[in-house]
Amino acid sequence: MDERTKSPSISGVGDRCCGCGSCAAVCPVSCLRMKPDSCGFVHPSYESGCIGCGKCAKACPVLTVGKQDRALSVTWAKTKDDGLRDRSSSGAVFGLLAKQVLDEGGAAYGAAFSGDCSAVKHVRVDSKDELDVVMRSKYVQSYVGVDVYEGVEGDLDSGKQVLFAGTACQNAGIRNYLSLKKVPMANLLLVEVICHGVPSPKLWSGWLDYVSSGVGSEVDEVNFRSKSTDWLTYSVAYFVATEKVRSDENSRDWYMRAFLQNASLRGSCLNCPAKRCCGSDLTLGDFWGVQEIHPEIVDRLGVSAVICNTEKGVAALDAVCGSLEMGPSSIEEVVPGNPSLIRSVKPYVRREEFLTDVASGMAIEDLMRKWTFEPSLKQKVRGKLSGLKRRLLG
Ligand SMILES: Cc1cc2nc3c(=O)[nH]c(=O)nc-3n(C[C@H](O)[C@H](O)[C@H](O)COP(=O)(O)OP(=O)(O)OC[C@H]3O[C@@H](n4cnc5c(N)ncnc54)[C@H](O)[C@@H]3O)c2cc1C
Repeated sequence: MDERTKSPSISGVGDRCCGCGSCAAVCPVSCLRMKPDSCGFVHPSYESGCIGCGKCAKACPVLTVGKQDRALSVTWAKTKDDGLRDRSSSGAVFGLLAKQVLDEGGAAYGAAFSGDCSAVKHVRVDSKDELDVVMRSKYVQSYVGVDVYEGVEGDLDSGKQVLFAGTACQNAGIRNYLSLKKVPMANLLLVEVICHGVPSPKLWSGWLDYVSSGVGSEVDEVNFRSKSTDWLTYSVAYFVATEKVRSDENSRDWYMRAFLQNASLRGSCLNCPAKRCCGSDLTLGDFWGVQEIHPEIVDRLGVSAVICNTEKGVAALDAVCGSLEMGPSSIEEVVPGNPSLIRSVKPYVRREEFLTDVASGMAIEDLMRKWTFEPSLKQKVRGKLSGLKRRLLG
């Protein structure tokens, strides 16, 4: 093939790209770079020197879809360690699994804020002292760099236990990359979080600037899942030098409203390429709706839904079950409160128009005026009724 006519096979992915970065990581001649678009979502950008090997397309979860995941077991679970659960999004099953891997001298990979909290990227931790940085949900698309792909590969090559946690598309990207590199995966535990979509990194950094100017100081810590109110009505808390400077229930925080109404999500999330086919060993989520099924187990610190997709996932959960309160459940029990487990979300009706405003650089104050994301009357009534029901059930 003439050098000028070669172009990477990944070009075919177009707008369906999920931004996992596996194409750039696997390219043997490093001819792709992940670059942000006008909303901050990364996409592969061709530099030069493609040799036409096609590995980028084989690593891509959109172009190379995995086998259907099977649910070998479904449980509700919460760790007995209330401190760990308070620092997690739901039942802290991720924290327990990661501790187990670190205890065996392994490494855990998960999403962490940058020092100024303006961005989220995947990082490696290998000591329990560092575990907190990768715990808890950060509701911004996390960037998985080439260093992470190579780090997982290097750790596995050196015989370490590795836990990688992320969204379905990130799990699929890692698995495809390791398969192409022929890296043995016996020591790898892939943990997927149920994901209804990832919000725009540009909107997040703009929002954080807005919050910082409102409180008169740079916010340096964010907790998207503060349980100070309750797990079911969790709050978003912002801190400056460990002091809480602002906290709002998720339905009152404008950034969260945009996220939860599916307005700020990446396009690929509306037709997720990896849902229930990412090859993860375990799927973890909030067990929303568990209060209707098992009200006796609900408390203010939260409950996880845990789906074991492989025998390795079953064994990993077994290894930590002594530290968990848990009980049997089923996909049928999980899905009503958590449809994102099996299907992609419907977008906010004017999502594209909203994201065009975000991309144009419209100031947050103007975005908030134009896009209030106030819940509809129907949503308000539904919220009031379920609050009343919760109170009646104690
Ligand atoms: C963007 C996003 C959307 C989600 N949507 C849903 C949903 O609709 N329904 C539901 O039940 N659960 C959803 N979750 C998952 C849920 O919030 C919890 O992560 C899950 O219940 C596990 O909780 P935990 O207490 O076991 O672990 P936690 O301590 O909360 O840790 C969970 C893991 O998630 C990883 N993580 C955090 N932020 C990101 C990110 N931005 N990208 C990739 N990985 C990340 C962390 O590295 C950690 O490994 C979502 C999570 C994210 C990040």
